[in-house]
Amino acid sequence: MSVDKPIELALPASRPSLQARVVWGDNVVTVGGGAPVRVQSMTNTDTEDAVGTAIQVKELALAGSELVRITVNTPEAAQAVPYIREQLDRMGVSVPLIGDFHFNGHRLLTEFPACAQALSKYRINPGNVGKGDKRDRQFGQMIEAAVRWNKAIRIGVNWGSLDQELLAALMDQNSRRDQPWDAKQVMYEALITSAVASAQQAQAMGLAAQQIMLSCKVSGVRDLVAVYRALATRCDYALHLGLTEAGMGTKGTVASSAALAVLLQEGIGDTIRVSLTPAPGESRTQEVVIASEILQALGLRTFVPSVTACPGCGRTTSTTFQELTRQIDDFLRAQMPVWRASYPGVEMLKVAVMGCIVNGPGESKHADIGISLPGTGEAPAAPVFIDGEKRMTLRGENIATEFQAVVESYVQQRFGKSAASV
Ligand code: SF4
Repeated sequence: MSVDKPIELALPASRPSLQARVVWGDNVVTVGGGAPVRVQSMTNTDTEDAVGTAIQVKELALAGSELVRITVNTPEAAQAVPYIREQLDRMGVSVPLIGDFHFNGHRLLTEFPACAQALSKYRINPGNVGKGDKRDRQFGQMIEAAVRWNKAIRIGVNWGSLDQELLAALMDQNSRRDQPWDAKQVMYEALITSAVASAQQAQAMGLAAQQIMLSCKVSGVRDLVAVYRALATRCDYALHLGLTEAGMGTKGTVASSAALAVLLQEGIGDTIRVSLTPAPGESRTQEVVIASEILQALGLRTFVPSVTACPGCGRTTSTTFQELTRQIDDFLRAQMPVWRASYPGVEMLKVAVMGCIVNGPGESKHADIGISLPGTGEAPAAPVFIDGEKRMTLRGENIATEFQAVVESYVQQRFGKSAASV
């Protein structure tokens, strides 16, 4: 059989969008317009607790969140915002803060200028800015604050709080069609119209298009894909992507990954958030880890060294293989805050931990450094491959510790500053 055309590379198409800048101090996070897709997260502390909120923002930033949103829902929360900012600056955490406003954002941004100034971006939900003739006035007050303090905004529409007057008008219009649309299609249209019309209104009030980002969040995977595909063709604002109310644990992780992967692969999405409900006692940073992993799995960003591991099977009857994989994964993540500064590019490192000789040597050779453990019935020896060559064999009880030392030494030699300058 002759083949004359190569299989196309599965590279994400890039949606051209305007580039927004979210700024705090010297830290400028560019969003859209060819910038890397950014990881965003949101605190779940009471914002009135300035210390607790600053600590959680720091945790999220250290985990890799490039933008952090905080709830601003009361005068006390608005008063706390500048103190949160101050504490973060004192700790050397320059991550931009986004204020999440609903219902009373117009008052809080007007009555608490220090809050408006300390935030880098305002999230405005057009479904929650007021009804009737109050709506335009209150929306206008929030845009005035953004213009006055030169801040970016996100028009964040959510189907749980969709503008009911707009939805009713579109339903009414739909009922007069010869062939009325499905109710879901009308809802999709209402989400997009609410976002785009509000953005245009903000521009008419003096905000630059580059200061505006949009989101239209829904909780169904296929709904999200449908809405964002349409939204992406109807505007060139940068888009924030996320499946709202994704849920807990495996369900939330899988649903978010499924939805975001489809859209990101089509080049849609400039910032992402995984809206995961944490299990009691679970760290809030889990949503950042998952968001980063989605981008890394798609080849869009690289945050931490990757560990390729086989699933194990009947050839790996002991837990040694699982334990080693876990230890190496934990070790690489734990080292990253230090390695990032000392070893530029270390996040590109590829490590393989394989359970037996069937695919172990082959997969290890594809990695920068790999180990193939002895499967059931094999000699108790673990060959280590470095840059595709078998370099040593580890034996005995301390394989995990010895392999970590080999990885550390490889990192120093390959990514150390003296290595880079050679
Ligand atoms: S590499 Fe070996 S242990 Fe791992 S899944 Fe394949 S056959 Fe099983």
